[in-house]
Amino acid sequence: MTTTPTALDEQAARFDVDDALAPFRDRFLLPDGAVYLDGNSLGALPAAVPRALSDVVTRQWGTDLIRSWESNGWWTAPLRVGDTIGRLLGAAPGQTVAGDSTSVQLFTALSAATALRPGRRLLVTDPGHFPTDRYLAQAVAGRQGLEARGVPPTDLASFLASEGDRVAVVSYSPVDFRTGELHDMRALTEAAHRAGALVVWDLCHAAGTLPLHLDTLGVDFAVGCGYKFLNGGPGAPAYLYVARRHHKALETPLPGWTGHADPFGMGRDYTPAPGVARARIGTPPVLSLLALEAALTVFDDVDLAQVRAKSLSLTGFFLDCAAELLAPLGFESVTPADPARRGSHVALRHPHARGLTRALGDHGVIIDMRAPDLLRFGVNALYTTHRELLTAAHRLRTIVEQAAYEEVPT
Ligand SMILES: *Cc1c(COP(=O)(O)O)cnc(C)c1O
Repeated sequence: MTTTPTALDEQAARFDVDDALAPFRDRFLLPDGAVYLDGNSLGALPAAVPRALSDVVTRQWGTDLIRSWESNGWWTAPLRVGDTIGRLLGAAPGQTVAGDSTSVQLFTALSAATALRPGRRLLVTDPGHFPTDRYLAQAVAGRQGLEARGVPPTDLASFLASEGDRVAVVSYSPVDFRTGELHDMRALTEAAHRAGALVVWDLCHAAGTLPLHLDTLGVDFAVGCGYKFLNGGPGAPAYLYVARRHHKALETPLPGWTGHADPFGMGRDYTPAPGVARARIGTPPVLSLLALEAALTVFDDVDLAQVRAKSLSLTGFFLDCAAELLAPLGFESVTPADPARRGSHVALRHPHARGLTRALGDHGVIIDMRAPDLLRFGVNALYTTHRELLTAAHRLRTIVEQAAYEEVPT
């Protein structure tokens, strides 16, 4: 079935009127007149954040000062915020800690996971994984005398059939950061476990966009950032999930004093705190943590199944817009049309992706690109509308038709 531009227009109107999540848009402060489709890189500003930060700075820091570590819950924030994130991950309390960057949490997760599988020589990662995940897999493997091996998720089953008993850890992301392809977390986790390996999932592009079930799937470790779909702001603290059954044997590579069983005993030697608290490292970034905590209130009373349904409606609609308005101009989607295999962004290939992304920004549509030739359109079901996606497609089409962009070398 081909869709006409008028049909797209009617669909956008109908979808947005029927949208049960529409009221949640008011939980964000969105820039006037701009279409923001880059929440997969930096989530928009939740309205609760400026209020909360102002209180944290002026009252908690300015007046209560050092007493705030106790009276305002600063000391407990990493575990409290971790538990709040855990609710979005399908993780019962006491298994998630917030702090540091995704990269640091990956280092912790990969080091600790490989140490739990002594004698197995391979650390498997996706050759198309986000760069920091690949670099850290190589670094951790090198330090522990292992070999990092690139195996795409689609090839994992056959790889494990021949080499499974040598694999210590499989480190993947459910969503490909370039193409937006969604992998089957359940099938991949089960395959790794059948081979006797542990899994480390990077949830940067998944958390907050769909229901996750870490406990139910028996996931071992997971990490993710606070600034994409969790909207915690630039450089927001990341998080680490460690399944409870691993806590006793958990050895973290960075035994900082805040993860000590008795941090204020200032003891001579390190004794790890019980539970996931031992994954704390140093003094937490309180301003960022409390900004993230305020940001997470946008998920209060939100049904993640509804978020997932709307996210798919948005990306599906944008794929229709792209097929109708952009494919004739040389754009090609690299995102799966099958909803079961689609995350929360759409990527279109075009040789002038860089120049077009800039030109779109100049025309009030904010997206990003991934070298050399992908334009990425992220949707956040809590604030993106179908109308905005149609607007983005129309503006992009006009820019190409009028050749109103520069051919920037990639
Ligand atoms: C965004 C992202 C990161 C970012 O890592 P930082 O340490 O937060 O800079 C890592 N991995 C994946 C899969 C990502 O999407």
